Amino acid sequence: MTLVTAFYSVNEALKPAQNRVHHNNDACPPGRDIPSWERKPGTGGYRLCEDCQRMTREGR
Ligand SMILES: [Zn+2]
Repeated sequence: MTLVTAFYSVNEALKPAQNRVHHNNDACPPGRDIPSWERKPGTGGYRLCEDCQRMTREGR
């Protein structure tokens, strides 16, 4: 696993507020699904995605 600079999708803004997340692990499947042109750097003020948390905890 590689921790990367936090990023989020421009489409997070379309989701209900409680579902909005940012990513910081390049092995995260939902994060990988975000094409580069939809990525914004930073957290957007959103919480860290649960897949990223789990993968980082498991060392992936
Ligand atoms: Zn993630």
